[in-house]
Amino acid sequence: MNYRIRTAVPEDEGRIRELFLEMLRTIYHTDDVTGYGDGYLDRFWSGNQDRIYVAEDGLVVAFLSVEVHHDPVDHIYLDDFSVTVAYRNKGIGSALIHAAEAYAEQIGSRAVLLHVEKLNTAAMRFYERLGYSAFRDDGDRFLLKKDIEDLFCDALREKDSGKLLAVPKSDLHNHSTKGCRRSWLAERLKKDLPDPPVPFDGLSGMQEWFRSSLKHYCDGLEGALLRWEGAFAEAKRNHIIRLSMNFGAAEIDLAGGIEEFRELIEGFHRAYCPDTVFEPELTYPSNCDVDFEEGRIDGYLQSGWFRSIDVCGFENVQPAEAFLPLYRKAEQYRLVKKMHAGETGTANDVRRAVEVLGLSEVHHGISACTSKETMRFLADNRIQLNVCPSSNVMLGYVKDYRDHPIRVLVGNGVLVTINTDDLLIFDSSIENEYLRLYSAGTLSAEQLDGIRRVGLGWPGRL
Ligand SMILES: [Zn+2]
Repeated sequence: MNYRIRTAVPEDEGRIRELFLEMLRTIYHTDDVTGYGDGYLDRFWSGNQDRIYVAEDGLVVAFLSVEVHHDPVDHIYLDDFSVTVAYRNKGIGSALIHAAEAYAEQIGSRAVLLHVEKLNTAAMRFYERLGYSAFRDDGDRFLLKKDIEDLFCDALREKDSGKLLAVPKSDLHNHSTKGCRRSWLAERLKKDLPDPPVPFDGLSGMQEWFRSSLKHYCDGLEGALLRWEGAFAEAKRNHIIRLSMNFGAAEIDLAGGIEEFRELIEGFHRAYCPDTVFEPELTYPSNCDVDFEEGRIDGYLQSGWFRSIDVCGFENVQPAEAFLPLYRKAEQYRLVKKMHAGETGTANDVRRAVEVLGLSEVHHGISACTSKETMRFLADNRIQLNVCPSSNVMLGYVKDYRDHPIRVLVGNGVLVTINTDDLLIFDSSIENEYLRLYSAGTLSAEQLDGIRRVGLGWPGRL
């Protein structure tokens, strides 16, 4: 059984009607039941906020309908819920309810409500296990309620890593081959892996340590595959529901070409976190031969798989203009344009890269904090900085978490997200990045939640 949860589409209506009848027959122990009337489900297809979640395993095997209400307070109401008999007691019901709760959080609802028959003690126990409790006595039914408004902020205030792991998050600056946890890799290799020196001697010190101390444990295609697998395992463990990972041409070639590579990576995506929105990014090292890469880039982009382009590595090796041929190609394929800038470079370097290449996101970009003018430019143009606090601290570019530039950037209205960069090296997974900034007093729980929502593309807190 390998089901997935998704939002229903009009083509699912026939199956949803069947499942609704099955639910009625189960409840009333008779075949003499009447299903939905004509047009009853139309409101779910009309583009308003009401929606139905389905579980699909080839066929749709379960559904849960969700109504959005704004009176007296913003809440969602879980209405009809049916899991076909062969799929009961397999966690599908909980998965559907978790999807609805994530949706409530996404749209800024403050509670989830539902009714349960008083005689249905099994259902009552099920909902209690999921954190619901009786809120109102409605005769032969209880109205149950679960408050969800501050799951993330509460987890931060309680410094509860377990709770933080369960909250939906994004990771949008992730170098895939270094995207797995060191402990995960050590376990898979059955080897003790060394800890890095702190801080590194900049980016070159980090790269040298990786080459000399870690790479020989996980080299070649086999080692890369293991590290890619670990990156998706981490997305699952950390409930990363939006994941942008970057891949270099050399890595794609190592796997035998773009089609083979895509199949391998999508295999991990499907196996570990099929519901995660995955946005592959094509990245070029800053010392690449642009003319040579320009001649090959169509081969990587024609499949339509990549969503964004990036340049990484040491800054100012070549001026931003040098990469224009690659970014023009990226534009033809409608990719989101990003680049590493402003980690070691200046605020002006960040602005120039954005203006010259038409970037909408910058990886790092933290030195923008030294210029009010640059920050205003970034804020006015809604340019997003994908910041990686532990990377900055461990490479010695930022003194500590307390004084991390993210505080000034947020204070000046710059859009930022929080990300891992190279988890295998820096060993601070995404929930820990939020926790570190909160514990150091860099940002408040509400500010960090606002950042999390930017990464997920969700609206801000109400
Ligand atoms: Zn990076």
